[in-house]
Amino acid sequence: MNVHEYQGKQILKKYGVVVPNGHVAFSPDEAVKAAESLGGDLWVVKAQIHAGGRGKAGGVKLAKSLDEVRQHAQELLGKVLVTHQTGPEGKEVKRLLIEEGLPIEKEYYVGMVIDRSTSRVVMMASEEGGTEIEEVAAKTPEKIFKEVIDPATGMLPFQARRLAYRIGIPQDKINLAAKFMLGLYQAFVENDCSLAEINPLITTKDGRVMALDAKLNFDSNALFRHKDILEMRDLDEEDPKEVEASKFDLNYIALDGNIGCMVNGAGLAMATMDIIKHFDGEPANFLDVGGGATTDKVREAFKIILSDPNVKGIFVNIFGGIMKCDVIANGVVEAAKQIGLDRPLVVRLEGTNVELGKKILNESGLAIVAADSMEDGAKKIVELVK
Ligand code: ADP
Ligand code: MG
Repeated sequence: MNVHEYQGKQILKKYGVVVPNGHVAFSPDEAVKAAESLGGDLWVVKAQIHAGGRGKAGGVKLAKSLDEVRQHAQELLGKVLVTHQTGPEGKEVKRLLIEEGLPIEKEYYVGMVIDRSTSRVVMMASEEGGTEIEEVAAKTPEKIFKEVIDPATGMLPFQARRLAYRIGIPQDKINLAAKFMLGLYQAFVENDCSLAEINPLITTKDGRVMALDAKLNFDSNALFRHKDILEMRDLDEEDPKEVEASKFDLNYIALDGNIGCMVNGAGLAMATMDIIKHFDGEPANFLDVGGGATTDKVREAFKIILSDPNVKGIFVNIFGGIMKCDVIANGVVEAAKQIGLDRPLVVRLEGTNVELGKKILNESGLAIVAADSMEDGAKKIVELVK
């Protein structure tokens, strides 16, 4: 799960990571009030969307007066911001962060991820802040430094100081930068983050070290123990199909293709996507309805697939082990009857109650193309959506 920049900063602040003073605003009036309460004579109006690259796309604006704060807020709220991370359709701005403008001396990069090869949390840092780290990694990988952290000891102060030295933080700010990194590590671990990115971390002309931007991702499997973070979830930022799927506890991820897939088991779902691609098709989604799905669940899953206008055909690929083929068949038939089936449907059923499942589908009157095998089904659906 992702949160907005202003929410990420609220979390980091609790761990002693210094962040700029700022307030969230949902309207131009609130933006001006926020700026007033911050005081000073320089503010930054920042679009809050779950995507980076806002600066380049015009989503981060400096304001030298309250009038300018209002102007920028009016312009940004309701605007669809297209950044290199949003995709071409962009994201509508519904919230702003009004922040004090800071006298930046230099911008740095600090990120944390879980490195699967070492099974450890890794902190990465670079003197190349503000730019895309992917670019730095591609062109000048020697400018990225890493510290692998032992979970038994946590991040040690010498590791933080070493990282700060390596990226060229000025001598007099090394201790502040180290404190920053140790706080960031603590926040990462205690909140079950899967990713943290501070780009940029800045030093200021008046001697401070702070997080000017904050991106935090959380492991969804751990959210049950972080009610406060779960409350920060912004459904507006998520794909409505995925939100609907999560209500029914379905493992669904929307993709760019045009073949809707309904499969049981994550492994079979991956294999189904692979075989569709093998025959030059493009899956529109990943969907694992799970082992013990009910007819209700299958029906809702099928409806979600049909609600996607990009879906030109559907491939149901079921291997009934715990899942029974008749349950799937009933769910598909119910959903198709409720909203109508206006696209080709290829079904491959195998396993428990397969005869009953086939009978239900045959007697439903739906135009279903039966497939003998997974390969046969994939070939048929790719052909049908052409
Ligand atoms: P994004 O990564 O989405 O482009 P950032 O929060 O990193 O957004 O902001 C982009 C740039 O805007 C920063 O690199 C920094 O130069 C400037 N900026 C952001 N916040 C402030 C601030 N509070 N004061 C001064 N400059 C800022
Ligand atoms: Mg940034």
